[in-house]
Amino acid sequence: MFEGLTEKLSGVFDGLTRRGSLTEADVAAAMREVRRALIEADVALDVVRSFIDKVKERAVGAAVVKSVSPGQMVVKIVSDVMIETLGSDAQPIDLDAPAPVAIMMVGLQGAGKTTTTAKIAKRLVDRQGRRVLMASLDVKRPAAQEQLAVLGRQVGVDTLPIVAGQTPVEIARRAEQAARLGGYDVVMFDTAGRTHIDEPLMAEMEEIKAHARPHEVLLVADSLTGQDAVNLAKSFDERVGVTGIVLTRIDGDGRGGAALSMRAVTGKPIKLLGTGEKMDALEDFHPSRIADRILGMGDIVSLVEKAAESIDAEQAMKMAEKMRKGRFDLEDLSMQLAQVEKLGGIGGIMGMMPGIGKLKQQMADANIDERVILRQRAIISSMTVKERRNPDILKASRKKRIAAGCGMKVEDVNKLLKQHRQMADMMKMMGGAKKGGLGKMAQMFGM
Ligand code: GDP
Repeated sequence: MFEGLTEKLSGVFDGLTRRGSLTEADVAAAMREVRRALIEADVALDVVRSFIDKVKERAVGAAVVKSVSPGQMVVKIVSDVMIETLGSDAQPIDLDAPAPVAIMMVGLQGAGKTTTTAKIAKRLVDRQGRRVLMASLDVKRPAAQEQLAVLGRQVGVDTLPIVAGQTPVEIARRAEQAARLGGYDVVMFDTAGRTHIDEPLMAEMEEIKAHARPHEVLLVADSLTGQDAVNLAKSFDERVGVTGIVLTRIDGDGRGGAALSMRAVTGKPIKLLGTGEKMDALEDFHPSRIADRILGMGDIVSLVEKAAESIDAEQAMKMAEKMRKGRFDLEDLSMQLAQVEKLGGIGGIMGMMPGIGKLKQQMADANIDERVILRQRAIISSMTVKERRNPDILKASRKKRIAAGCGMKVEDVNKLLKQHRQMADMMKMMGGAKKGGLGKMAQMFGM
């Protein structure tokens, strides 16, 4: 999903984050590329304009944070603005009303309305233990009611028995009554669609809404139709009033224009995403996770949640091995410093490590304290990956660039390099002297 947009944006950001320092012109050039990428993704022009304006405004006013590079700062700002554009917070389906809570599904024919109705019903039953009744109010398409009944059997959700010849409003009344008498928590109305918006369709939706009094009116729109989906949502909302959007076929949407424009243009939240034809292919819409995906930074939140433990353990093993062999580079140092920070600083760690007076003294001599850690990480983050892996290539001009990139002096860079050398030597020594001992120490560092 969103591959095309992601590819373009990550190209822009790679260029930005690789540099130690950024000029205003660099940022302006990057923003031109972001603008182009958004337009190609079929994001509404007004949304693109306000997106770029917001990023520029904040980039200019951003306080210089020493521990991140300017490029990383810009990426963070873009990410923040994107999350806001997508709607900030996740907005789940609201069932906070007296039972049976009515949900009305609206949209054009073929958007995925019936499929989505069954997917939502299944989810409410499976995840929330709700009792759900579904009813198809589509009397135009001959097989529509039967289609919902088939899906209902497939997912184990009840559907209203079909009575031939009833009008949509009559079916809605019967469904409401059946839901009330049958003790259902939720009653879902799948309505008829058309190939395009027309007056009879809107009049029918208004009439159904007036009788069914739904707590949620969910517009189902096909994300592949881009800005058309957004305009459709606007029209439906103006006429019928919608409470949320479900964007379907996200699985085939490489561009993301509908997802990015929807909230800003309609003011209505995207609540769910349809991600495939299967009945469990439905996802909650989390703006921050979607922004992570679009920006090519992966679905960081869920990834971190899932992988935190195994990654930590793996890193610890690798690091211990590197230390033992004396191949402890600046990337490792940066990672280690981050861990030290996480564990409450040097003081906290030393408190957990009895009997290592010598190391403690060396670190004290090397003047590693909390503030130093922050500054050291800033210096390392101004380096290129190549430099971090091979500190030996750091000659005068590179040092100057790195110092400028993080707002420090060449002296500070030299100091860091000296400390790193000392630490690497020390680790090599300890590793040689007592095999395995260092691995244990690495564990205690939480590496
Ligand atoms: P309706 O006319 O709006 O009720 O549309 P349907 O629910 O009948 O769906 C039309 C087609 O779209 C069906 O073949 C569905 O399987 C398919 N479909 C629905 N949602 C999605 C989705 O999120 N992804 C994909 N790939 N197909 C979907």
